[in-house]
Amino acid sequence: MSSFLSGRFSGIEAYVPGEQPQDRSYVKLNTNESPYPPSPGVLAAINSAEVARLNLYPDPDTRSAALAISGALGLGPENIILGNGSDELLAFAFQAFCDAKTPAVYADITYGFYSVYARINCVESRVLPLDDTLRLVPSDYYGAGGTVFIANPNSPTGRAVPLAGIEAIIRGNPGNVVVVDEAYAAFGAESAVPLIAKYDNLIVVHTMSKSKNLAGARVGYAMARSELIADLNTMKFSFNPYNMNRLSLLAAEAAINDSDYYEECVAKIVSSRERAVLALYGRMFDVLPSRANFLFAKPSFGSGRDYYLGLKERGVLVRHLPQERIKDYVRITIGTDEQMDALLAATDDMMGKNR
Ligand code: PMP
Repeated sequence: MSSFLSGRFSGIEAYVPGEQPQDRSYVKLNTNESPYPPSPGVLAAINSAEVARLNLYPDPDTRSAALAISGALGLGPENIILGNGSDELLAFAFQAFCDAKTPAVYADITYGFYSVYARINCVESRVLPLDDTLRLVPSDYYGAGGTVFIANPNSPTGRAVPLAGIEAIIRGNPGNVVVVDEAYAAFGAESAVPLIAKYDNLIVVHTMSKSKNLAGARVGYAMARSELIADLNTMKFSFNPYNMNRLSLLAAEAAINDSDYYEECVAKIVSSRERAVLALYGRMFDVLPSRANFLFAKPSFGSGRDYYLGLKERGVLVRHLPQERIKDYVRITIGTDEQMDALLAATDDMMGKNR
């Protein structure tokens, strides 16, 4: 830290993304990326003619991609804003809808960025604990007294709240915005998108990083009634009007037109997930029911940290989070069946099964 950093940020702890060590090649199951490449349409869209246009700014209104994405979801272009990853849109939502009188409300165990965004915006957090089984209890959120942020399915647990529970939370907070972060919903949760027409306080956030195999392109989008989207646009145009680069916009639009390809990828990931769950049960692991492209699993031997370190030594990266309540677990991204077999082989080696 330099002596110049504003006092507002002294002691701030930035978000720590999943590690990307360069010392050797790993089976990388730690950042919830898709193991599958982008669709053929995406590869074709990013061609040298498009690269040759990089001297020109992109469309600040992202019209073409916004029309394609919103249309595919039955919404109008006035109901969507694209972001440089959904992280950027979550950041805009914290800026726009939290302040000294309006805290951010979120679970104790959830996406680690929420607490960082609250801190960097100097707003209070009201943290509501998940229950003993790491389940979110919707009634805890009625009259939450602030802007609500819910990851559904949640990360790192993988658990999802049924749509009726999400709707009850939206209805239970008529004076506040409820942001439903559906980064992983395509892998098995009910989406709240159909509720947008019904509620003026709902924002649903999606990403193309997980179920559209585009983590490297950084594309997310938020959907809501036009008034809320206008507020998010005020944040965007006050920060970076050209937040979406030309190539990512083309990739996003092409991905929407290749939905069959992505549905197949999601189906493969869900099938690998269920196969991995059974395999881990067979090794006496405690595995939470997952609706996402990852598992939250507690090994039957040793601590979560020891398991993480043992896997890393054997060339497999998973994510271990140090929070006290979940320190016995690791979060395992679902890769291909071959990658999951590598995880299981490393696990067996640690358990002494291969000796
Ligand atoms: N929300 C949740 C719950 C996530 O796990 C992630 C991925 N780290 C994001 C949002 C952000 O995804 P991206 O910025 O890649 O769209």
